[in-house]
Amino acid sequence: MFDRNALPKSVTVFEVGPRDGLQNESLVLPTLVKAELIQRLINSGIPAIEVASFVRPDLVPALADAEELLLELTPLLANNRMSALVPNQKGLERAMQVGVKEIAVFASATESFAKANLNNTIAGSLEIYRPVIEQARGLGLRVRGYISMCFGDPWEGNVSPDQVVNVAEKLFAYGINELSLGDTIGVATPGDVIDLLDALDKRGISKDHLAVHFHDTYGQALSNTLTALLEGISTIDSSIAGLGGCPFAKSATGNLATEDLVWQLHGLGISTGIDFQALLDTGRWLRDKTGLINRSKTAIALGNNKRMVGK
Ligand code: MG
Repeated sequence: MFDRNALPKSVTVFEVGPRDGLQNESLVLPTLVKAELIQRLINSGIPAIEVASFVRPDLVPALADAEELLLELTPLLANNRMSALVPNQKGLERAMQVGVKEIAVFASATESFAKANLNNTIAGSLEIYRPVIEQARGLGLRVRGYISMCFGDPWEGNVSPDQVVNVAEKLFAYGINELSLGDTIGVATPGDVIDLLDALDKRGISKDHLAVHFHDTYGQALSNTLTALLEGISTIDSSIAGLGGCPFAKSATGNLATEDLVWQLHGLGISTGIDFQALLDTGRWLRDKTGLINRSKTAIALGNNKRMVGK
């Protein structure tokens, strides 16, 4: 039975568009447009944003301006939660030089994706992350872990909950503050979400430290989100205007759109601190400014160009 009382009273919307989203778009945005996007997201009430990546600039040209962007964002760093992806010790040093206070590390639930994305084994990548996480925590930084391919993998098919739990336990043992569970190719359905959250719970990993990161590739992102909410998850990742496409499936839809997520949360009476109209305007501004497609179904339904409120 649908139990409204099981829903959290408030949810932290974790915006990934400026990093995860833009990394997977073909267009490279100027640094100042990225900075304005982030400022507008903050002005909309978004409480946490992944803003940049300190991977090698030649590997991800769309995010090669991480230092310049962080310098633009310096006045905002003290009072806003902004994270940056770091792949290794060098990335941590670069991030700290420009004042980053929260980092993110990316692990994989499968050996195939670890090889394809990190050019390493699962164990090898965790050994690289361990000193990065420990040093960052020692210096007072917050650390967000991600696990990719938590529910399925294009090479290996289904992924068992135990594969994910084994990686999760190590990341928490190294000291991460929060773990985001990524359905990188969007194949999960609600029963899979329950199975994984139950498996994590059985191994003593508190839901208070978990986030979910769903992709809408198969149209399941909001069903999976509602399931996670009913299971006690209260941090949800999403991407403004659904930025990001999907790098591993030939589909127009990738990241869950922030507008669609907030439409559902506010419809359920869950508070987010977000001004919905300002959020919609931010997605529209981005489309008008850059020509990037706005994939949010809610934004489309409410009219991409018009200023109107749905209900
Ligand atoms: Mg994503």
